Order: sequence, then structure tokens, then C-alpha cells
Amino acid sequence: MSVVLVTGGSRGIGRAIVEEFAGAGHKVAFTYAGNTAAAQLVQAAAYQADVRNFARAQAVVAEVQASLGPIDVLVNNAGIKRDSALHNMAPEAWQEVIETNLTGTFNYTRALMKELIRRNGVVINITSVSGVIGMAGQTNYSASKAGVIGFTKALAREVARFGVRVNAIAPGFIDTDMTASIDENARKKLYAQIPLGQPGTAKQVARAAVYLASEDAAYITGQVLTMDGGLS
Ligand code: NAP
Repeated sequence: MSVVLVTGGSRGIGRAIVEEFAGAGHKVAFTYAGNTAAAQLVQAAAYQADVRNFARAQAVVAEVQASLGPIDVLVNNAGIKRDSALHNMAPEAWQEVIETNLTGTFNYTRALMKELIRRNGVVINITSVSGVIGMAGQTNYSASKAGVIGFTKALAREVARFGVRVNAIAPGFIDTDMTASIDENARKKLYAQIPLGQPGTAKQVARAAVYLASEDAAYITGQVLTMDGGLS
């Protein structure tokens, strides 16, 4: 049994990850931004914490370890999108997305890395197909997610000698609150571009995360597992 910390575990993919790890018998803690109603729905320790805040990341790591024990697995999942064409993009929309998706991933990994080195731990970063192929209207989001891929590959090389594995999952279109605002027409066009013709599920991503954290994946590090129905 491992102790698992998931950022952004109150909804969507993060919540499915919390449920899969908990269902597999692991002790799970998760963070969320502000959605307390959603946070109360899952059976795991919940911490309100903005991933952009490094001091708060250090405090959450200390609190989780004091209550559940040393953390073995970190899943950096918290993420946002603020889409717009670059020529209309507010600098705040750029900064908010980079700070949440990329700096948030740094913050929790940095806060935990010494512990993960002591315990041969595992890091799983949720990136996106948008960071692999680039998506129009998402220069901020694509840059943040491509940054997460670079971070994953560099860190995997850096900490492999300590027995720490670092991998990423790049989902394509997954039905969650993040994609709920896409209208029917745009949705149809999007599905038409996906060779498998349909969106994926949060559960599929979550099961891949459980696999990457398991002993079955002991020889896998520095990889990006793309789960996009063939889109990329
Ligand atoms: P979602 O349903 O919008 O959930 C986002 C989660 O992140 C929530 O738990 C939210 O907390 C948390 N969060 C947002 N900003 C935060 C902050 N500043 N500090 C702490 N937590 C924060 O999104 P999702 O679709 O599940 O996406 C999860 C991850 O998968 C993201 O990294 C996303 O980029 C990635 N992804 C999603 C898709 C997709 O199609 N859905 C595709 C590829 C990659 P609250 O509930 O408190 O707001």
C-alpha cells in the first residue's frame, strides 16, 4: 500500500485518479482550488491549496505526511485552460495557465522530491495532447503542457539513479468540466478528427496512472503515454 498525493483531485480526471488509487487500497490525499462541495464527495483527505503557491505546497506535503505517512506517489494533475487567439490573449491568461499547469507541477514535485528520493517514489504528470501537437487558441495551454513534458523527461534522467520514476500521461479529449463548455457543433467537428471517433474517459486516464505507479511499470521512466483515440 502506498501513500498517494493528487493535485486537483476534486473533479474530473483528478477525482477519478483519487478514486482508482483509493479503490486499489492506497491511502490518498488530494488538493483542490476552491470547490469545497466537490471536494467533500470523495473518500480521501482533502486540502484546499492553490498549486501556484510553493509555501502552501510545502505545508500540504508536511500535513499529509504527518497524517497518512511518507508519500510514495505524486500525481500532478491540477490544471486550467484560458483559451483565446494569441493576438487577443490577456497577459493574465498567459500567466495564470503557465503558473497553474507548469509552475504548479514544479511546486509539488520540488516540495516532495527529497522524500521521493528516500523512498524510490513515483511522479506522474498529467500533460495533454495539446502539448504534443499544439492546438489553435491554446498557445498558453500548449506551452504549459509542452513544458510539463520537458520537465518530465529532464527530471526522469536526473533522478533515475535514485530509483525515482517520472512519467507523463497526455490525454486527448476527455469529458470533464474542462471540456463541458464546448458546444455541440464544435464537439462534432472535434470527434470527427479523432480516429477512434469518441472522447476518452477520466477512468481510463486514472487506470493508466495506477499502472504507471505500480511495480508492473518499474522499467518505465521519462515517457509520455498519449491517450487520445489516435488524434496525434
Ligand atoms: P477539471 O474538471 O476542470 O478539474 C480541474 C481540477 O484542478 C479541479 O480539481 C480544480 O480544483 C483543480 N485546480 C484548478 N486550478 C487549481 C489551482 N490553482 N490549485 C489547485 N487546484 C486547482 O479538469 P480536468 O479535465 O479533470 O483536467 C485535469 C487535468 O487533465 C488538467 O491538468 C488538464 O489540463 C488535463 N487534461 C484534461 C483534458 C480533458 O479533455 N479534460 C485533456 C488533456 C489534459 P477545484 O475543483 O477546486 O476548482
